Formats: sequence, C-alpha cells, structure tokens
Amino acid sequence: MFDHQALIEKSKQYLWLPFTQMKDYDQHPLIIASGEGVCLTDTQGKSYYDGFSSVWLNVHGHRKAELDEAIRKQLELIAHSTLLGMTNVPATLLAEKLVEITPPGLTRVFYSDSGAEAVEIALKMAFQYWQNIGQKEKQTFITMKNGYHGDTIGAVSVGAIDLFHQIYQPLLFKSFKVPYPYVYRHPSRDREQCKQDCLQALHHVLQEHHQQVAALIVEPMIQGAGGMITMPPGFLSEVARLCREFDVLLICDEVATGFGRTGRMFACEHEAVRPDIMTVAKGITGGYLPIAATLTTETIYEAFYADYTELKTFFHGHSYTGNQLGCAVALANLELFERENLVEQVAEKAAFIAPLLQELASLDHVGEVRQIGLMAGVELVQDKETRQPFAWENRMGYRVSLKMRELGMLTRPMGDVLVFMPPLCSTREELQEMISIMRQAIEQVTQGEQAYV
Ligand SMILES: *Cc1c(COP(=O)(O)O)cnc(C)c1O
Repeated sequence: MFDHQALIEKSKQYLWLPFTQMKDYDQHPLIIASGEGVCLTDTQGKSYYDGFSSVWLNVHGHRKAELDEAIRKQLELIAHSTLLGMTNVPATLLAEKLVEITPPGLTRVFYSDSGAEAVEIALKMAFQYWQNIGQKEKQTFITMKNGYHGDTIGAVSVGAIDLFHQIYQPLLFKSFKVPYPYVYRHPSRDREQCKQDCLQALHHVLQEHHQQVAALIVEPMIQGAGGMITMPPGFLSEVARLCREFDVLLICDEVATGFGRTGRMFACEHEAVRPDIMTVAKGITGGYLPIAATLTTETIYEAFYADYTELKTFFHGHSYTGNQLGCAVALANLELFERENLVEQVAEKAAFIAPLLQELASLDHVGEVRQIGLMAGVELVQDKETRQPFAWENRMGYRVSLKMRELGMLTRPMGDVLVFMPPLCSTREELQEMISIMRQAIEQVTQGEQAYV
C-alpha cells in the first residue's frame, strides 16, 4: 500500500523531528501509516502497542468512531473561524464543559493550541494580573527543580531540566527554582523527611521574596518529563497553602495529568487543591487535534475587565485558537468520559497494573517503579543497592525502548526512566501484554550488565 523504502528515504531527506537527534533517527527510522484502538501500524505493516499514548495524548484509542464522527459532523458546518473578538459554537460549549469539570473557582477559559502556549498564557496572565491591580513588584516566578512546562522560551524559563534547558540560559527570564520531593534520590530515602525539606526550602524562598513573586507553577502529583516522579501525599496541598499564605498565585500545569490520566479527572483533585490558574492540553481532544486551554478565576478575569483605554486588555492570541474541529472533538471526548465512566475505570485499571509493575521492581537493574493512575515510570539503575545510575553515555533507557519497539511496543524514555502511559481505554489484557513487553526488553538489554561496580 505504501512505498515503504521511498518514504523512509524522503523522511531522512526532508524532515527534522522534535526532540530527536536525527543521527539516531537515520539509524532507526519509523513511519506510522495507521492506527486502530491501542495499536499503531507502520508502513511495512508491523503493528505496535501505543505504550505512550502517542506522547501522552491518546485516551479512547485511535479511530474511535464517536470522535471520528464528531469531526465529520463539524466539517459539514465549518472547519475554522477566528476567536479574536468573536466566538464559535463548539468553543463556547467546550468552555462551559471545562468550567463544569475543573476544580471549583475556575470560571474562565482562554484557548490556545499546545501545552507550552497554555503555560505562556498562564505566566503572562499571572504577571499582568498583578500589574493591572497595581502590585507592580510582583514580576517573577517560582518553579520546581526538574520541572517541565513546554519548549517555548517562557515555558523554558520556568523549566528546570538541565539537559533540555541549560543551553538557552542567556535567553531566559529568572525564576526561583525550589527542590522537588524526589524521594528515591533524597539522601534520607524517607518520604516525610524529603517532603519536609522541600517545604522548608519553599517556605524560605517565599518568606524572602514573596513581594516579587507573581506565581508558583507546578505539575500536580507527578513530574512527567522530569522522570515520572510522584509527590509524597500532602505535598501539593501544603504548597497550595503556602502560596495562599504569601499571596502568590498557584498555577497547576495539568497538561500531562489532566483528563483522567491519574485516576481523577484532574490531579489537583487528589489533594482538593484549587489553583488560581490551570493549564490543560494533551488529553483534551482524546489525542486528535491540537487544543489547549488556560483556566482561571473570576478574580483574575475581573482585573482585566475595564474600559479599553485603561490598557488592561490581555494582548495575547494565536491564529488557530478555538478551532472548531478541535473543540468539537474535545466535546465528544468529554462526553465519552461520562458515558464510559472512564475516570473510575482508570482508577480500577491502575490498581490492576500496580502489582504487575511492582514485579518489575524485582529485576536486577530496576531501581524504582513509580505510578499514579495510568502514568508510570520505571527507573533503571546500574546498582540497586547504591542507586547508582548507568553511565549517561550508555543510553540504557533509549536502548531498552528500542528493544520494546522491536518487540511490538512504542514508548519514549526520559533518560533512564522508562515511560509507560498507555491509552486510558486499554483493556486488562492489553495492559498485561504491554507490561510483559517492557519486562522482556529490560531483561534482554540489561542482561550481562554488571550489577556492582
Ligand atoms: C507536554 C507538557 C507540556 C507541553 O505541552 P505541548 O503541547 O507539548 O506544548 C507542558 N507541561 C507539561 C506538564 C507537559 O507534560
């Protein structure tokens, strides 16, 4: 059906892929031709489990009839018209729906097209909020070490993954980076101790600098790109409490965790946290089209609501914002969540895979398995006792993931943390099979690696 070899050559000749060393791609090219349910098929007809939901997006599987139909139906009306100064039908209805399902207090929806943009908007909104109400000193941000919020310059400024972000340092605005409770790498290995240390550090920064801080941004319950690092219980709610105490806005970046991924509709709900600003993207359209949103409170909205001449308008927007096809499929996606009781199902499936994932922890080179909902990371180490990582140049996570590809599952590691983020619709059998592929790949690749150095 496809001229596989010709396509491979063209892909090598014309493309530059995101987050990809093209020298690696040239050695291991792959072109997806189609998808069905939780599987993807390449141009040679080989099928793979979509073990990372096409980079954390997919919800109901590929070619879900109801979602395909929602797009077709919208196409009969219009594909796109602008949201600058006017709105459209699905964007309006989706805004209502989002306000309904997000934590209480979030009453306004500002659309964009990607998670990074939603974060940029959150930062600019928080910044301008304080300007508009006359607290002009509040111009900076607090972020967590190892945090990830997207790849545009503002989002990178509040990012803290050195491998990705260090080189751009001269381009970035300053932010305060506070420690994140990475219990496995904390000297004490003790959850409470680690949590208290981090809270104390945050308290210190707030006490010293709160007058200059507009907002704190955090990935609720789990850092995704930083290595699937779950927070100790009680940490997020305490961060929220400290923000309130010091009059600093709380931005929860739910781009990865939103829409059922963690076993609740939004990760904030695990700790009954009500952010001042919340960013969503990835799962919002079920993985179909690029829609993102920044939600905020009436208090923040009102600080921008004034006569035009007061210059309080939020001057920000993107051409495709509020796209009808995207909003229509997002609405259909959220209807399916309700009809299929999907969030409860995720919680049940998460409980089902927990023991299967924990079995991996007994392998010689698995240091820790972390999971919340259907979002999991398996941290590979050279030495379990000392927690010593593999040499960075070894690219163990990358090699194990390539082996998984060979064995029939696609995913992308974060360094030596293997990522397991299956579509939320995956059945128990499918989940079991995916985890079995992960196990085989780990065993085959790490076999013969020295356990002690
Ligand atoms: C993926 C991600 C982003 C960026 O979203 P894009 O749509 O890729 O720009 C932002 N924040 C978090 C927490 C993410 O996981």
